[in-house]
Amino acid sequence: MKRIPEPFRIKMVEPIKMTTLADREVALKEAGYNPFSLKSEDVYIDLLTDSGTGAMSANQWAGLMIGDEAYAGSRSFIKLQDSVRTLFKYQHVIPVHQGRGAEQILFPTLIEKRQKQFKANHESGEFKPIFISNYHFDTTAAHVELSGAKAINTLTPEATNTAQWFDFKGNFDLPQLEKTINDAGAANVAGVIITITCNSAGGQPVAMANIKAAATLARKHGIPIIIDAARFAENAWFIKQREEGYADVAIGDVIREMFAYADMFTMSAKKDPMVNMGGLCCFKDNEELFKAAQVLCVPMEGFVTYGGLNGRDMEALNVGLWECADEDFLRYRIGQVEYLGERLREGGIPIQYPTGGHAVFVDAGKLLPHIPADQFPAHALANELYLEGGVRGVEIGSLLLGRDPENGQQKVSPFELLRLTIPRRVYTNDHMDYIADSLIAIKERASQIKGLTFDYEPPVLRHFTARLKPIEN
Ligand SMILES: *Cc1c(COP(=O)(O)O)cnc(C)c1O
Repeated sequence: MKRIPEPFRIKMVEPIKMTTLADREVALKEAGYNPFSLKSEDVYIDLLTDSGTGAMSANQWAGLMIGDEAYAGSRSFIKLQDSVRTLFKYQHVIPVHQGRGAEQILFPTLIEKRQKQFKANHESGEFKPIFISNYHFDTTAAHVELSGAKAINTLTPEATNTAQWFDFKGNFDLPQLEKTINDAGAANVAGVIITITCNSAGGQPVAMANIKAAATLARKHGIPIIIDAARFAENAWFIKQREEGYADVAIGDVIREMFAYADMFTMSAKKDPMVNMGGLCCFKDNEELFKAAQVLCVPMEGFVTYGGLNGRDMEALNVGLWECADEDFLRYRIGQVEYLGERLREGGIPIQYPTGGHAVFVDAGKLLPHIPADQFPAHALANELYLEGGVRGVEIGSLLLGRDPENGQQKVSPFELLRLTIPRRVYTNDHMDYIADSLIAIKERASQIKGLTFDYEPPVLRHFTARLKPIEN
């Protein structure tokens, strides 16, 4: 596998603590065998998330010095607005504190508008709003539900076959999308949300043809189209690499085409644009919706030209929007994740294949077949990886999924995955080798790894604060 060298040099470094196995055994025990409860100081390589963990560039840091902290009409906002207009061709821009800030001002606004339309068109029955997505991110689904709607996913079935290559595992299942619209009645669909890349499927891309087809279907029924844009540049890069007709299209044009099919977007800028905090809620040309969202922005996020961000944060975000859409950067970024995936495959570690944009998912169900789902094989693997190398990954499986609230039974998870999320511009390719070597070393003793049981099981969102212990036999 060809290594793609970093398209940057390092100007400032942050030391990370080197620990011994004995140190890590103590730390993990204290953390209740739950990596979420580790102190970050005790972690050598932290692959918990790519959210807000990217390294800012010299230009982004320079931006912090020239932020305009005016309460209203900040120069930093005007610059950011100009960038959005050029990069996405969206006219109306609201900065927000992070992705969920955009969700909390947009979804209630959309539902209200669709409810008015429902009544004005004398639709029969009661208005029962739903949103349909290829896959709602978890806070996105939470905000859909908080605003009184239902969140329905219609992901392509290819996504669940981890071993089989498919170019666009983030795609909508289009027949399923159409059926869902028809079953609910188009007037009840408050929006179709296109999540690029599809985080929940492993950072898997959505094809341009699929974006276009999903949007065309929604438009035919008069349904608003939203892009959940956290990893827009990574998605554009995959289209350029894999979809016929895009190899020679400039990345900026790929981005503008994707966004041309939608009406509005929400963005967590903590992902692709590499800021530690920030987000956007933007509208292509719908001034009425834009103004309605602004009305919610003021009490929820802050005045409409800062939306919970410092002027300096908007400067850094403005720079980050362009840097993440640079082709040399994307080649390295996606290449680094792919490199880690290939090293693991060569070492006989089963992964979701191909790798996504921001993470490698290790199939712990396959690697540790002797551990049943209710003893959390992927979590056991996360713990073992921490002990082996001080690397922190995160379980995406039965522990995360939790119990059925009706009967208290463990829900059946379709997979038991260990997510290794790669922060942007933070770790070198040597770190990738180190991570791969650590996992390959574990493979040799995989059959001895023990399952886990609860010492303390929180009633909701248990994975964050649970305390566990290995099952001794
Ligand atoms: C992270 C994320 C969000 C939420 O953004 P926050 O900045 O964490 O609030 C929404 N959608 C997707 C696809 C995400 O990855």
